[in-house]
Amino acid sequence: MNEFDLIRRYFARQPVMRADVALGIGDDAALLQPPPGQQLVVTTDLLVSGVHFLPDADPAALGHKALAVNLSDLAAMGAEPAWFLLNIALPSVDAKWLAGFCEGLFALARQYNVQLVGGDTSRAPQTVIAIEAHGFVPAGQALTRAGAKPGDRIFVTGALGDAGLALRHRRGRLRLSDAEFALCAECMDRPSPHVEEGLALRGIASSAIDISDGLVADLGHILEMSHVGARLELARLPLSPAYRAHLAGVGWDVALANGDDYELCFTVPPANLAALEKIKHRFPGITEIGLIEPGSGVRILDVAGKPYLPKTAGHDHFSEDTR
Ligand code: ADP
Ligand code: MG
Repeated sequence: MNEFDLIRRYFARQPVMRADVALGIGDDAALLQPPPGQQLVVTTDLLVSGVHFLPDADPAALGHKALAVNLSDLAAMGAEPAWFLLNIALPSVDAKWLAGFCEGLFALARQYNVQLVGGDTSRAPQTVIAIEAHGFVPAGQALTRAGAKPGDRIFVTGALGDAGLALRHRRGRLRLSDAEFALCAECMDRPSPHVEEGLALRGIASSAIDISDGLVADLGHILEMSHVGARLELARLPLSPAYRAHLAGVGWDVALANGDDYELCFTVPPANLAALEKIKHRFPGITEIGLIEPGSGVRILDVAGKPYLPKTAGHDHFSEDTR
């Protein structure tokens, strides 16, 4: 199979056809029509075999995750997803792998009505997948990491640490029951991007970020960009029943520092708390976890109100992996 057959067979057959795509896959470039008055929001994420996933990883989960992490970045900006590009390098043409990958990829694309409009395909010694996603936000309404002010409350969209539990189970460091593992593995392998929450938080949140490297690290980015500090209360952290069952053995740091949760962390000024209350019934996972303060850095309080120092920092590709 040559490159063009491969593109035609797997990538050009995709389920979403948007009216704002004047020209999609097949020409030298795509022609896209953003809505008037909206800003284009653009993001990309790289997945490398052996670094971000194991060579024998389920291809459907990989297809899902490759797109999900990009949609999560758009969600964190308050953007409405529209289009994406797929750059993929493969060691060989494996029909079964490609079919699985496309199944996972396009199921999520259909769910969020995002259209694959182009990309590039090449052979390489190992699999590399880079998706670039595009979305829109009304001019000036994007949620950024800068904008948190002292007195703002800090929230997350849902439970933290389950992806980290699945990773530890897979590495033999923790023993989850079959039912617990099934739930946690779903969080690790098929994270849900919180697109609807991001859209609903426009005009309400003063800052937002998606948690890919761990709550403490990613909240830290908000604090740095906003020139503020924060108080975080462990007693308020939303944890799943599986996490609570293992809390005594695992401790807090998996929830604080593992990452891969893809929940949103955001801040809300006191004046917008009533507006947040009004959308909360749609997003029951939203939980208040702390407060923005003057100064810098995160101050974590344990359940007794005493200072707590996490033993692990967030995930960083250029530091050693201790997970
Ligand atoms: P060029 O040589 O101009 O880069 P290609 O032959 O690489 O063109 O691509 C032909 C068409 O197929 C282009 O529209 C390109 O965007 C699309 N395409 C190539 N690879 C992919 C891919 N992995 N997913 C989606 N579209 C792709
Ligand atoms: Mg090309």
